[in-house]
Amino acid sequence: MRFDIMTLFPELVSTVLGESIIGRACTAGVIEINTYNIRDYSDDPRHRVDDTPYGGGKGMLMAAPPIYNCYSAVLKEQEKAGFNGRRHVVYLSPTGKVLTQQRAMELSRDFDCLILLCGHYEGVDRRIVDEIVDEEISIGDYVLTGGEIPACILTDCVARCVPGVLSADECYENESLSDGLLEYPQYTRPYTYHGMTVPEVLISGHHANIDRWRREQAIELTRRNRPDLLAGKEDSFEKK
Ligand code: SAM
Repeated sequence: MRFDIMTLFPELVSTVLGESIIGRACTAGVIEINTYNIRDYSDDPRHRVDDTPYGGGKGMLMAAPPIYNCYSAVLKEQEKAGFNGRRHVVYLSPTGKVLTQQRAMELSRDFDCLILLCGHYEGVDRRIVDEIVDEEISIGDYVLTGGEIPACILTDCVARCVPGVLSADECYENESLSDGLLEYPQYTRPYTYHGMTVPEVLISGHHANIDRWRREQAIELTRRNRPDLLAGKEDSFEKK
């Protein structure tokens, strides 16, 4: 799967995504991440990319033409690379639908390429969204200064659902939210830590009991920390 990220701060994005599991997946060729500096596609002699909003108001808006030029360059690069898979253009925005694990799994399954647009300042001219964007995604109900961190979060979250990015040991399928519940508590060596021991059931070797305990713990933790996830579904989770 490939990720083409349009931003004013490509180094921020490539530094974050060049490390650890995602960085290794790029080196291994399982995924590909490219960044494009929108400023390079401005026709303005001073490479300006922003302007004041019509109708007044504070702050600056990113103008449509440099973003469109950048988007055209991404498509040209894809063509040059012989890419003709299923692509989806996402604008990271607090006005989008909030990202969920479920949506990340769907994006990894349904598309071969995500083209991500990172806004800055007060955001972008609405016309570029209407013209090129398929979906607006927010990473939460708060406002950040730019779309770079949201783009890194979306890329990380979708990429780890791509087969081959995580090893079998790191599989995402048993994790928090993949089945609608938070993950059960986990423990590793030493057995005794600061006077606290590991729950006995986990060293019993009785797999059915361990599975039952984990499920009960997951339901209890979800009830405590995220009751919204359980609303109306407690019976179905408890029966499983
Ligand atoms: N004026 C915009 C509004 O009120 O909706 C906020 C603009 S924000 C300061 C600048 C950029 O940061 C946005 O264009 C978007 O790309 C990014 N951004 C900020 N918060 C975000 C969030 N929660 N999810 C995704 N992107 C976000």
